[in-house]
Amino acid sequence: MSPPVEHIRRWHDEFAALRRDLHAHPELGFEEHRTARIVAERLAALGIEHQTGVGRTGVVAIVRGLTTASGRSVGLRADMDALPMQEDNAFAHRSRYDGRMHGCGHDGHTTMLLAAARYLAETRAFDGTVTLIFQPGEEGYAGGRAMIEDGLFERFPADQVYALHNWPGLAVGKIAVRPGPMMAAADRITINITGKGGHGAHPHRTIDPVLVAGHLITAAQSIVARTVSPLDNAVVSLCAMNAGHPGAMSVVPRTAQLVGTVRTFKPTVQDTIQARLAEMVPSIAAAFGATATLVYERLYPATINTTFEAQFAADVAGRVVGRENVVHDLDPSMGSEDFSFMLQQRPGAYARLGQGGTGGGPACFLHDSRYDFNDSVIPIGAGYLASLAERAMPLAAPA
Ligand SMILES: [Zn+2]
Ligand SMILES: [Zn+2]
Repeated sequence: MSPPVEHIRRWHDEFAALRRDLHAHPELGFEEHRTARIVAERLAALGIEHQTGVGRTGVVAIVRGLTTASGRSVGLRADMDALPMQEDNAFAHRSRYDGRMHGCGHDGHTTMLLAAARYLAETRAFDGTVTLIFQPGEEGYAGGRAMIEDGLFERFPADQVYALHNWPGLAVGKIAVRPGPMMAAADRITINITGKGGHGAHPHRTIDPVLVAGHLITAAQSIVARTVSPLDNAVVSLCAMNAGHPGAMSVVPRTAQLVGTVRTFKPTVQDTIQARLAEMVPSIAAAFGATATLVYERLYPATINTTFEAQFAADVAGRVVGRENVVHDLDPSMGSEDFSFMLQQRPGAYARLGQGGTGGGPACFLHDSRYDFNDSVIPIGAGYLASLAERAMPLAAPA
């Protein structure tokens, strides 16, 4: 492993203890008050300049190199929030709170960025400025966008931005990064159907919204199959349906609702699916004498790595974990990630950090109620983040 990893590994016990403390005290999006306070206290103890309250509960820190003559800057981002779910682990650092859990490993991400901050502040072996971005509300709250709207990139320098996410199932010691799509855009669709309620034994006196919902569900599946090019990727999933009452077998309800998600990588595909749904929903309803409306919400854009920065990140990863341990062909995920908002503003790359199994056991995937971040990867992830800054802004060789 590279010098930054070995350097950071000496602090392993301290940072593992911090990670477990964060795990035991998970906070939901924009409620990361304790987490942000701990981040700010750690930064202050290291003498690192920082500001709190950026994008509500975000924290941003600045570390300057031995020189800043290059005028360059690099942004490194970690997310801090937890999930509204019940933890099923029994170990000592399990969540102290009912219904809240660090099920996505953002406790580990926050810890790794703090470890990188300490290393960078102690060594300062770069020519430029590092901006450390501790982001709130990744899990559906668009905290990344909140920071941008709060002037993140105007107030703090970052010519390029990098982030990583722990990845269960990818072996410890491996880093996966590639140019292009890493995570999909996530949109929410809500379809409200209105018919005419009545007696289930006299359906000719009703306009049945459940039947309309059935036709809409089937028709929506034809969009990916028959409208999107087979060479593109997309998902249309209708995941919730509400109509009628299970106790009322002979009551045709007046309304029905469908809720689902659309996942895409290309904006053109996203536009096409939205347009097709907008045509289909009222027309299919009209064919049955009902009415229906579509609410289409674009939540997170696709996470797209820029080519140069992704290749640079892969090169840096190779120096950190060895070139044979860099995975260049890990499939993109149809999940989503709000680092995408930062990648819309700045070139950069999002990588996956091998996390193996969890707690020495089998690999629980992210958002599993038995998931736990693997502390053994803290020095690797922190070393990788620090190395990105050092390598992007190298000190001039001594004359
Ligand atoms: Zn997550
Ligand atoms: Zn996550």
